[in-house]
Amino acid sequence: MIERADFTVVGSGIAGLTFALSVADRGSVIVITKKDDAESATNMAQGGIAAVMAGSDSFDRHIEDTLAAGVGLCRREAVEIAVRSGPEAVRRLMDWGARFSTDASSPGGSSLALGREGGHSERRIVHAQDMTGREIERALLSAVEANPNISVLEDHIGIELVVAGGRAGRRGCAGVHALDVRGGAVVTVLSAVTVLATGGCGKVYLYTTNPDIASGDGVAMAFRAGVPVRNMEFVQFHPTCLYHPEVKSFLISEAVRGEGAVLRSLSGRRIMRGVHPREDLAPRDVVARAIDKTMKTTGDKHVNLDLSAVAPGRIRSRFPNIYERLIELGIDMTAAPIPVVPAAHYLCGGIAVDLECRTALPGLYAVGEVAHTGMHGANRLASNSLLEAVVFSERAAGAAAAELDDRRSELAAASSPEWSGNRPGPVPEGVLIDYNWDIVRRLMWDYVGIGRTRRRLELAQARISPILSEVTDYFLRYPVNRDLLELRNIALVGDLIIRSALWREESRGLHYVEDYPERDDEHYLRDTVIDGGVPQ
Ligand SMILES: Cc1cc2nc3c(=O)[nH]c(=O)nc-3n(C[C@H](O)[C@H](O)[C@H](O)COP(=O)(O)OP(=O)(O)OC[C@H]3O[C@@H](n4cnc5c(N)ncnc54)[C@H](O)[C@@H]3O)c2cc1C
Repeated sequence: MIERADFTVVGSGIAGLTFALSVADRGSVIVITKKDDAESATNMAQGGIAAVMAGSDSFDRHIEDTLAAGVGLCRREAVEIAVRSGPEAVRRLMDWGARFSTDASSPGGSSLALGREGGHSERRIVHAQDMTGREIERALLSAVEANPNISVLEDHIGIELVVAGGRAGRRGCAGVHALDVRGGAVVTVLSAVTVLATGGCGKVYLYTTNPDIASGDGVAMAFRAGVPVRNMEFVQFHPTCLYHPEVKSFLISEAVRGEGAVLRSLSGRRIMRGVHPREDLAPRDVVARAIDKTMKTTGDKHVNLDLSAVAPGRIRSRFPNIYERLIELGIDMTAAPIPVVPAAHYLCGGIAVDLECRTALPGLYAVGEVAHTGMHGANRLASNSLLEAVVFSERAAGAAAAELDDRRSELAAASSPEWSGNRPGPVPEGVLIDYNWDIVRRLMWDYVGIGRTRRRLELAQARISPILSEVTDYFLRYPVNRDLLELRNIALVGDLIIRSALWREESRGLHYVEDYPERDDEHYLRDTVIDGGVPQ
């Protein structure tokens, strides 16, 4: 089956929806999305979106904070663009209907309330209580629904990009093959411009704050189509995910520490005291490593987040969502500490793109967490990712609209291959898929996690190679199936992370290797690029 549009967007988080809304007056848009349209990391974002909104703040300070977190690997131009466009991005979200918390104590009571998070030298986090992402996703989805030029196909999983020869045999992206889960068919969506907005890859790891959709599909699809990826070793672990036997992936926002909560070992020791001048508001990698070290030293399964210094009324009004959820689980955060552990949270690397989010494959763009614009360097500053997603998706939309006519004629000249792989259906030996899912995620957690060693990385590489071959074989032999597609992607993305981590023989930002504890600017003050072959 074939569908056609001017623009195909894969993913309905903040990045994909911003792109769709920004190009809809230039042509038809199809958004395909893996599950229900709101199932995304965006929907889970609690803290907020960083932007310079207060008179006491400045672009220079936000730029400096971002560069400091990125430890030499941020692309300064990308940071400047995002930060300077921040206030405009917030206004754009408000124009699309997002309602953010206001500060009643400000003159007139109508200016935005600004939170503070780790690594930020100022209060600059625009938020909607502790449900910022849900509010943004709600607003963008209703704006999309009201737009007759945009259609959304839910339960459609992108499998592979359509790569076709255009005019003069020029290779380009002509759309995407997707599994229509409900219809039980593979649909080929042909388009002049294709945009990957598939989010992150937290599911590569055993413990993650990410939703189930985050299996690195966009990185895997682009890489298989020959597009280079950058800095895949820089995976951010959020320091404070709820530790609870029944609940997976519930994040305790960094903003809780911004309000005065502190981390303690189970014996009551302040974990961050003496570790970093900003103590509990140190950059995330520093905090996650300190917790990891404490847990490895004490053998405890978690540490505690102590909120005794924050007034109960403030906790309930600032964090109503976290408060209510914890009450349901029998934890009253106004009276008792919250048990927390670190978990895989954000991919700082991704598909290599330029400042308009073009990839190396003509007609293909990548936006949001799946893309590497260079904004985050070796570590992302809190709340900078929603900002990056809005600013760069709008830039991508401008660039894509400008080349639409040219891309239309490329597409007209292109051969348009239909899906030639297997038909959808259940995998006959499902146990093999389940087993390999578990193996990949545990391997990545134990061997390629917060603290790394060369030996563990080499072992991880030796172990993932046969899994990759086995999974490729399943893909060629078995019916197309959601679990198999995702397994194929997490195995490939895991391999890309391991190869990148092995290449970088230093410690920098999120990448900490015990064998090379120092940073080495002489050899590694540059991005890790995998362009089909070995990293370089
Ligand atoms: C718990 C949590 C809290 C966070 N808090 C903050 C915060 O406060 N501030 C901040 O700046 N950042 C925060 N982040 C990070 C931020 O939310 C994400 O980086 C951002 O939302 C990513 O947006 P996106 O549009 O790129 O991807 P997502 O919002 O993850 O959307 C990805 C979309 O792609 C779809 N998709 C994936 N694969 C396929 C496929 N194969 N086929 C079709 N569709 C596919 C998914 O279904 C989904 O619709 C948080 C992240 C998490 C997990």
